[in-house]
Amino acid sequence: MQKLKLAIQKKGRLSDESIKLINECDISFPDSSGKLVSAAYEFPMEILFLRDDDIPDYVQDGVADLGIVGQNVLVESDKDVDEVIKMGFGKCRLSLAVPRNMDYTSVNDLSQKAIATSYPKILQNYLDSKNIKAEIHVISGSVEIAPSIGLADAICDIVSTGSTLLSNGLKEVEQIFQSEAVLVKHKGLSREKEAILQQLLFRLESVKRAQKNKYILLNAPNQSLEKIISLLPGINSPTVQPLAKEGWSSVHSVITEKDFWEKIQRLKEAGAEGILVMPIEKLIY
Ligand code: ATP
Ligand code: ZN
Repeated sequence: MQKLKLAIQKKGRLSDESIKLINECDISFPDSSGKLVSAAYEFPMEILFLRDDDIPDYVQDGVADLGIVGQNVLVESDKDVDEVIKMGFGKCRLSLAVPRNMDYTSVNDLSQKAIATSYPKILQNYLDSKNIKAEIHVISGSVEIAPSIGLADAICDIVSTGSTLLSNGLKEVEQIFQSEAVLVKHKGLSREKEAILQQLLFRLESVKRAQKNKYILLNAPNQSLEKIISLLPGINSPTVQPLAKEGWSSVHSVITEKDFWEKIQRLKEAGAEGILVMPIEKLIY
């Protein structure tokens, strides 16, 4: 039987979350430390541990069938692969930053300036879209020090909290690209591998859906039931069971994490008591 080869980042910001999500799909594999490949125990899959920058290339060539990689790296690599789903982690943005004391009013101020980055393609696309000509200096690491050593007037780099920029005397002036980790696949997968991928996606989606929802149990006086049920538009209508205590019921439902606290507040106001909220492991429609 064929095995699906999934490439993930060997060591870095995407590694732990990638492994966690695979494990949550009930796919486990032997400790990978120091190894390049690890075969899963109960699922026809092999995990390849690579540098994130190499993943798009390996997936394009079919050395790996699938890969988990940041959209920043994927778009910059310009490889021909299919994006299958967004993973919901590894979120960051690519931004332009300039020295804090620079008088910056718009991106036009960067015209004819030197910009240091590890993302020349994404930056060039952005500058083209704004009709701006600037000089791009490609450097592979520590981009944020370029202005202070006189190598560039501005930088384009990954930002998450902005504290690295701050400590290098820079300010973020434009967000040019939003990124998160995505699952990509090789374009010519065999039928057999495509079938394994569908099984994997079924699991991934039920895990991701579960993470966005919570199971809720509460007690309600019967006269408040109608109001409470109207506040709980779960996947199915909620389960309502009588409590031993006369005139009271227990209500069970699934609610989304979105507006979660607001919903809890409204349930309380409607008369709900003893509200119990639990995580869901898998959610299958
Ligand atoms: P490798 O050795 O595999 O090349 P790396 O140093 O290029 O690793 P990491 O810093 O581990 O990469 O980041 C991997 C990916 O994580 C980034 O390409 C990006 O998609 C994502 N990411 C999320 N948040 C951040 C952040 N705050 N800083 C950098 N990358 C982030
Ligand atoms: Zn990298």
